[in-house]
Amino acid sequence: MTESTNFSAFGLSPLRLAAIESIGWTLPTPIQQQAIPLVMGGRDVVGIARTGTGKTGAFMLPALEGLKEGAGLQVLVLCPTRELAQQVTEDTEALAAGSKVRSAVIHGGVAYGPQLDALSRGDEVVVATPGRLIDLQQRGKAKLKGVRLLILDEADRMLDMGFRPQIEQVVRGLGRRPQTLLFSATMPNAVHALALRMTRDPAWIEVSPSGTKAQGISEIAYSVRPELKPDLLIHLLEQPGWDQVLVFTRTKIGANTLQSRLEKARISCDAIHSDRQMRHRTRAMERFSNGDVRVLVATDIAQRGLDIEGISHVVNYDVPLDPGDYVHRIGRTGRAGATGEAVTFVTAADIGAFRTLEFQLERRLDKVHHPDFDFAGGVVMERREPSRTRSRSGRGMGSKAGEQLAPEELAALLSHES
Ligand code: AMP
Repeated sequence: MTESTNFSAFGLSPLRLAAIESIGWTLPTPIQQQAIPLVMGGRDVVGIARTGTGKTGAFMLPALEGLKEGAGLQVLVLCPTRELAQQVTEDTEALAAGSKVRSAVIHGGVAYGPQLDALSRGDEVVVATPGRLIDLQQRGKAKLKGVRLLILDEADRMLDMGFRPQIEQVVRGLGRRPQTLLFSATMPNAVHALALRMTRDPAWIEVSPSGTKAQGISEIAYSVRPELKPDLLIHLLEQPGWDQVLVFTRTKIGANTLQSRLEKARISCDAIHSDRQMRHRTRAMERFSNGDVRVLVATDIAQRGLDIEGISHVVNYDVPLDPGDYVHRIGRTGRAGATGEAVTFVTAADIGAFRTLEFQLERRLDKVHHPDFDFAGGVVMERREPSRTRSRSGRGMGSKAGEQLAPEELAALLSHES
């Protein structure tokens, strides 16, 4: 298939093509080009693709195509987080528009009633997080025998979250072996092993090697003294173009503290993490997507499944310890052709973790030292390719253009400082 293949080449039904048109997709993304014909041909597929590549369409379009309306549950999608499950369900509904196909989302943290109704009604598609699905399965409420297509979405994340036993339990409750698709942003050994167990003679497809960044995202690391992180963030938020900013913190306390700090600086923001009720999290995400709040501070729970278009900036307020996390996080920006900027704050204590991250990503990030916030005080270095926005702002980011600091150099600078 070539880049210019359009959706009609896949032999999708007119109803589906109309749904795709009304969503506004014109050309299939690379993962869709590769996966749709394979899945429609009945193959098992292992896809290495991060969120943001269009993988939901890649599995859901052919999944819907093969459905028998009114024949009960046939397609089961397992997702790591509630947010992703909700997002996949919304996409499914949009892609199923005009048909009678129903889809249900099943996850913890909400009442059982509507989920039980959906299961007894026999919705054709169920998108679930493993925990609640097992719970319902054990109560005899989730009958999975009719599932003929199983999709494991963000398999790496599910394994990270310890869902392997639940996935296996769900699979034991299925009838005959279903056609199985596994998608993952990264392919560590554990995911590879799961893929081999779950699939039969799968087609392996990969849209970009694990660890690579999406096109259109510029990635920058700021060296910063830990106590100045909030000030650096506030300073960045004063720059033009910082319109919709997603900030990741490592801890819930960190998220709460940062939220209060930003509110004190009169910056509209909200925070989501696992201690906040689902209701609150959903509302916070809505307000953020609508533009009612400018900054959303989130811990890991929000990093997958967030599907908000046009985020201008993603900030790793703490260095992510896992390259998969980093790739997922920065995937929130620069989506569907838009450009975005991913910024990572690196303190002196993070140098080791940061070097490891760059090593695992197999690339170096551009470094910026701002004299007001930098821990290697006095070192002023411009990022390699200064953005137009930033130069327009007139706020000096330093003067020495055209340089990039290697981790070793950063470490060397540090030792000079101490
Ligand atoms: P996903 O990787 O499934 O989370 O999709 C990421 C984003 O890309 C979502 O906002 C989709 O609506 C959008 N998208 C998916 N497929 C296409 C396409 N073929 N053309 C344009 N946008 C798309």
